[in-house]
Formats: sequence, structure tokens, C-alpha cells
Amino acid sequence: MSQQTTVLECPSCGAPVSVRIRFSKIVVCEHCKTTLFLEDDAVIHVGKKSALTTIPSIFELGHQYRYRHSSFSVHGRIQFDYGAGLWDEWWVVMDNGEGKWVSVDEGDIVMEVPFKVSGGLAPFDEIRVGQNLQIDGRSLLVTEKDSSTCVGIEGQLPELIFPGKVYDYVHLSGTGGIHYTIEYGNGQVLTYKGMWIDPFDIVAL
Ligand SMILES: [Zn+2]
Repeated sequence: MSQQTTVLECPSCGAPVSVRIRFSKIVVCEHCKTTLFLEDDAVIHVGKKSALTTIPSIFELGHQYRYRHSSFSVHGRIQFDYGAGLWDEWWVVMDNGEGKWVSVDEGDIVMEVPFKVSGGLAPFDEIRVGQNLQIDGRSLLVTEKDSSTCVGIEGQLPELIFPGKVYDYVHLSGTGGIHYTIEYGNGQVLTYKGMWIDPFDIVAL
């Protein structure tokens, strides 16, 4: 993942839009908040304006943070509404170039990376909270199964996501703070694995 910056012109307002991560699929114009869908760093579709609800968060777009012995910069944000509240998914890039998702639900923080499951996964409708699923050679407990609506996005993102759309998801936990997410949406199943992390291990730089 290169840090080379491409500057596009927003088709909606003409403002310059910096794409700092190559092969980003979405970038939101900072000036007019229009969502631009990208392919090979060119705009292929102009989406709607994206508005986020202001909620307190430990992260800020464009800022850098240290987590234990590594650091990362924050490039994108997706805000979800699960009915009882809002949470943010932040797209961050580590100093070694690896991209990760950091999910922040008030004080609960999970850092995950996308990965491909070998073998199939149960359909969303067949999964029950409290059951164990075998994924990746691990036995994981289903702790949450819900649907959430994408409220809005900002910055740039490596995956297609559509404000207003409902996404189904399942959270699973394993021993030692392991956390998995299965997301069902856009006609595809995406899987992420990672860990719960301690908010006190994150330091703004
Ligand atoms: Zn614009």
C-alpha cells in the first residue's frame, strides 16, 4: 500500500480531493461531502453527500496515533447506527503499510484486519447468539448478531459502502481477547479478525 498522493477534482464542487492511499474505493470530498466512488484512482461514480452525526471519539481523521510499539494514521470513517446507538469504524494504516479497521463503540475498541475464511460460512439467518462456530481452526462463540445502518462516511475507504444501506453482522469471541466479525452486505460476506484493545494503549501523536 503506497502513501503516494493523487489529487482529483471533485466533480460536484471542483475542490481538490486528495487520495492518499492507492486503490481506495471511496473518497469523500472534504469541501462538499459528496461521496466519490473510485477505480484505479479515478472517479467512476458520484454518490450522495455524506453527513455524520457528531459523537465523541478518541480518533480524528488525518491524525496519527501510537498503539503499543507501532503507530498508525487515520484515513477513513464509517458511522453505523444499530438502533440503540452509534458506533464508528475507522480505517487506519499502520506504519508498516498494513491497513486495519478499528471499531469504536464508546469505550470498547476492536482492531481487525480483513481476511479470507477457508471453507464456507453459515448464512446470517442460521447463526444464533450463544452458539460456537469453527472458523480458521478456532472455536468461536457468537456474542452478537444484529443489523446496522450506515449513517455516513468520511475520508477514504478501501471497501465499497453505501450510506443508508443496512448491513447484517455477527461478532464472535475466542480465548485471549480474540474477536472476529462477519459482515453480510452488498451480496457478499466479508470476514475480519483481530483483538479487543485497551483504549489506554492508544496515544495521540
Ligand atoms: Zn466537492
